[in-house]
Amino acid sequence: MVFLAVALAVVGVVWAQDEGAPGIGDEFYPLLGNGGYDVQHYTIDLDVSDDMTTLDGFVVIEAVATQDLGQFNLDFIGMTVESVTVDGVEAAFERDDAELVITPAAPLESGALFSTRVEYNGVPGRDSEGESINFDGGWYAYRGGALVASQPDGSRQWFPCNDHPLDKATFSLKITVAPTYQVASNGEFTSIYAEGDRLTYEWEMRQPMATYLTTVNIHTFDVRTDESASGIPIRNYFPVDLADEAEEVFARQAEMLDYFEGVFGPYPYDYYGSVVANVQLGFALETQTMSLFGRDIVTTGWGGMAESVIAHELAHHWVGNSVSPATWRDLWLSEGFASYAQILWEEHLNGRAAADEMVEGFYAEMANPMMAANLERRGVAAPANPTQDALFNSSVYTRGALALHALRLQMGDEAFFTFVRKWVSLYTFSTATTQDLIDLAVEVSGDESIRDLMDAWLYQDPLPDIPQMGLFGTQKD
Ligand SMILES: [Zn+2]
Repeated sequence: MVFLAVALAVVGVVWAQDEGAPGIGDEFYPLLGNGGYDVQHYTIDLDVSDDMTTLDGFVVIEAVATQDLGQFNLDFIGMTVESVTVDGVEAAFERDDAELVITPAAPLESGALFSTRVEYNGVPGRDSEGESINFDGGWYAYRGGALVASQPDGSRQWFPCNDHPLDKATFSLKITVAPTYQVASNGEFTSIYAEGDRLTYEWEMRQPMATYLTTVNIHTFDVRTDESASGIPIRNYFPVDLADEAEEVFARQAEMLDYFEGVFGPYPYDYYGSVVANVQLGFALETQTMSLFGRDIVTTGWGGMAESVIAHELAHHWVGNSVSPATWRDLWLSEGFASYAQILWEEHLNGRAAADEMVEGFYAEMANPMMAANLERRGVAAPANPTQDALFNSSVYTRGALALHALRLQMGDEAFFTFVRKWVSLYTFSTATTQDLIDLAVEVSGDESIRDLMDAWLYQDPLPDIPQMGLFGTQKD
């Protein structure tokens, strides 16, 4: 995917003491997230036009002020804001590019729980002049349906929010559509009710969620269900014409969930499932409790990788969704781990030799001189060292996974899997940094040499060797 680059840097911008900062402190996305408050809960209540392009409704954001606030920001691009209230009282607001600047009638005191309601409408993904922005995350209307895929910064295109994983919150989503449609979203599907000739679907995400993992999917679906051995309900939303084929492609999710509970610990959420949008996507996204795929996962099988990708998105629910990278620079903590989970799933199915073959394949990809030169030229050879405009580069995924395998070989299986479970339990529903991971690996193993090993794998350009497997990055033939 290609994402909108933030053109404005806030470095050097000074704001008054009682104004919440316009960014939460992410080096790559200086205006994502905001300072001065901590969101507890979002209620998103939207009516969707029959052509799926236009939204009309409101969001209520319950938050705690973490400082005195005479003014604070939400992240929001485009559409039309009709009104803003804070604790039921009309508040002044201004639009400043991707920032919605709100001045409550009375200043908020540090520690106060306050409720902000923003009424808005319009076509998401367009600026206030009505010029189209290409789909680069956020709301996407397609023929006969709609989907939402927002990693990393698309949520602010369809609802005002504190758009950064550092501020997770619970969500209620109420989506109103024409009665021919169904809505699949995050968490538990709690109710459906009719008002006039419209249907409202209510979904409840009861565990904290980063904004970029919010999703809304509208279409006519065939819902197929399953359950993990641990009792987690699995609900899959498939396009009607593909449902039987899709059910086969997604058949092993319950087994995967059981297996990954053994690797990572208990599944963090109450529900799981996948939604297949009735459109070719060419990507998949780990939208919380309802992973998103396009028709192509079923129709093309992704070159034999469909099941592996399905495992990748499920694994993200422990590594990525529950334990999220604290900054977008730390993305490998999510993608490297989920890619390594693909290797673990292969090992579970076909044994260690098959997993080793996959590791060798990953290694060959990274050692390929053209790949290596390309990554180096873009300055992103090391997985913990991406750039903002090459965030989702292959080193983040592939070399990130190899770094974890190298760590496993150094630590031994027992210590490594103890470390993995501890990693997930320590940072459940929270965020962590690369340094946190290295510190924990050292703590669990008592092996200080892990610092140098991880430094070479994560921060230095040359591809390290994996001598235990006879893999040498510098060897030329
Ligand atoms: Zn991923």
